[in-house]
Amino acid sequence: KERLVQNYLEQLNPAQQEAVVTTKGPSLVIAGAGSGKTRVLTFRIAHLLTQDVAPHRILALTFTNKAAKEMKERIAAIVGGDVARNLWMGTFHSIFARILRSEASKLGYPSSFTIYDTADSKSLLKSIIKGMKLNDKEYKVGAVLGRISAAKNDLVTPAAYARDQHRMMEDQASKKGMVYEIYARYMRQCYKSGVMDFDDLLLNTNILFRDYPEVLQKYQNWFQYIMVDEYQDTNYSQYIIIKKLAEKHGNICVVGDDAQSIYSFRGAKIENILNFRNDYPGYKLFKLEQNYRSTKNIVNAANSIIKKNTKQIKKAVFSENDIGNKIKIHNAYSDIEEGYIVINDIKDKRLKQHYEFQDFAILYRTNAQSRIFEEALRKGNMPYKIYGGLSFYQRKEIKDLLAYCRLTVNTADQEALKRIINYPARGIGKTTLEKIEMAASASGKSMWEVMVSLEQTAQLFNAGTQKKLNSFVGLINGFSAAMNQQSAYDLVMEIATQSGMMKELYHDRTPEAIARQENIQELLNGIQEFTNNRLEEGGETGLVHFLEEVSLLTDQDNESEDDINKVTLMTIHSSKGLEFKNVYIVGVEEGLFPSNMTKDSQQGIEEERRLFYVAVTRAEDNATISFARTRYKYGESAFCRPSRFIGEIDEAFVEFSGEQIKIVDQPGKFAPKQPERRSLGRSQQIQKPGYNFKKVGEQQAAPKSAAFKGTGNGNLQPGVTVEHVRFGKGKVVSVEGQMPNAKATVDFENAGLKQLLLKFAKFKIL
Ligand code: ATP
Ligand code: MG
Repeated sequence: KERLVQNYLEQLNPAQQEAVVTTKGPSLVIAGAGSGKTRVLTFRIAHLLTQDVAPHRILALTFTNKAAKEMKERIAAIVGGDVARNLWMGTFHSIFARILRSEASKLGYPSSFTIYDTADSKSLLKSIIKGMKLNDKEYKVGAVLGRISAAKNDLVTPAAYARDQHRMMEDQASKKGMVYEIYARYMRQCYKSGVMDFDDLLLNTNILFRDYPEVLQKYQNWFQYIMVDEYQDTNYSQYIIIKKLAEKHGNICVVGDDAQSIYSFRGAKIENILNFRNDYPGYKLFKLEQNYRSTKNIVNAANSIIKKNTKQIKKAVFSENDIGNKIKIHNAYSDIEEGYIVINDIKDKRLKQHYEFQDFAILYRTNAQSRIFEEALRKGNMPYKIYGGLSFYQRKEIKDLLAYCRLTVNTADQEALKRIINYPARGIGKTTLEKIEMAASASGKSMWEVMVSLEQTAQLFNAGTQKKLNSFVGLINGFSAAMNQQSAYDLVMEIATQSGMMKELYHDRTPEAIARQENIQELLNGIQEFTNNRLEEGGETGLVHFLEEVSLLTDQDNESEDDINKVTLMTIHSSKGLEFKNVYIVGVEEGLFPSNMTKDSQQGIEEERRLFYVAVTRAEDNATISFARTRYKYGESAFCRPSRFIGEIDEAFVEFSGEQIKIVDQPGKFAPKQPERRSLGRSQQIQKPGYNFKKVGEQQAAPKSAAFKGTGNGNLQPGVTVEHVRFGKGKVVSVEGQMPNAKATVDFENAGLKQLLLKFAKFKIL
């Protein structure tokens, strides 16, 4: 055993070793990206285990399930799988969901409580807003949910909300003065339905620990060692949970980087790091300064970016890796061309430098940007995997089947009930549903309770409707009864058949329906896999546990076995903590990154800059940045300007590709609120703060829109070079037909062969 300890300590530098072996008392590890914070946590846990600390007395909290899984695998490699599997390791939500499940009755929840996802929460809010006869233009569900979520993460209950002058004033200012009441109703409804949303998992843990000191004590005693990764992105609710749990043993180690705090929009508080110093005055501080991930150029470039932020803990990050290539900056004509540039570069690097597909990641600010890259990758026959967006579990047929499962384990789950009571169609219409809902809310019961009360249904409905309702109740009761006798796999199979879902999907032979059937099969495979894994680990295999696991997946988690050697597409937010040999940061334009929504405040800009820092520091060998000068938005092509962030990187570490451009201007403080983009076809370019790029020897690098008009140019000759507004430069191969139907085939440098209808094509002859 001792030898193993020696071995892994050798894989750490002295500062890291120190942080690993200092296990008693509070420790704070603050360090820049790629300096081994996560590695320190991993080895620290392994170290504790080799010191004979029992795995189930260690609590380790990660930002994603995937991170937890990877950490566990590493630890297993050092101490063995049977030890590693007993660690309490996972995301805040999954760990505290597990604790809440065994303590639920104290809070008046069933232990089989189900979990609402955002869509469920929104649907419930929508019906509450409607029920209160509020204007749904003013009370947009997304915004209301955001307010409620923020309150929960600040541990503000509905009663406290109504007394909170600041919140109430903010709501009134945005014409949402009734949010406090919506919040109260939302909470009551969730409670009645035996469901928790994501934020409730943390809020209710706090309520549990506040109201049941003996429960808190139990867990305080239990967890001898507590560790938290990505501490800079914890919210107040998480902070308090950790603080309370650590009170007894005081062996708490948190690692983080204030420069990578990127979730303040979801309530994360950088102050949690600063509070650590006050909460544990005797804490030990560890600073790791050597970056092992990236080349010197990347580390230096990243340092020069983050230096621009005023609020930060001083750190000196250096790399002893190769100097590497400079950060390449691509200037694309259009979003489409940007796609081709990136994909061609990947092709090139893969062929010439022997990288694998998995060594590439394309990172963007918003999910919607993925489409163009997906298309280009598909055309280029390159395998890719995409995170976020519509995940497998958000597909209709999957949500339908899962709603049956939820109702089976928790008949009070109202959103699940509403989703499938008439799917497949069984003649239970909207009016019936409304009546049940009204009766439920008048009597303080759940909808299910109304439905099973023969007395109530007899009052409300005619014999025909009563019969239909009874048969639905019978169907679900049958599933619930089978729950303890059947494996989750068999049960869900039975649910899919008995509910009529399979038949509904199978009588349709369209490709879409076949895809949906395959998805159902895939879900069943997932359940089988879940059951096998759990059996191996000695964990719970019930349907309720499967549902919990599914509900708590994060954006990074939906990855399957055959996803290994593929190009990764994800938002920068979900790339946190990860690393790739080659990283493409795309769409680096004013209004997109920094996002229009955040650029009017210093705070907003600083958070976006941290996000940019996170993006650049994901790269090991090469970081490539690109921006497009025109981009499709709201159905039309519009001008964009390169982001101010590009100009903020120290020039010594960047290299412009293609046309030589030079930064000639510093950005104004913050961009004004005037419209950011203009339609093509107008001739003049508006001058705004932000970076102006200048071609050497030319005034303006912006596209000359007048020349890009659909000119109807019929005298185009083969061999002529044109510049198309979206595809960039290309050579005309052939021209066919007469105006107005004349078509040209053009071989574009980056976009390949395209046929253009000249009447509409926007290009100029060079
Ligand atoms: P981030 O801030 O992005 O989360 P981090 O500080 O958690 O980064 P790690 O992911 O732990 O950094 O480490 C970055 C990379 O450097 C990993 O590939 C890790 O294995 C490697 N690494 C860290 N420390 C060492 C070391 N002492 N020797 C060799 N490689 C190391
Ligand atoms: Mg990390």
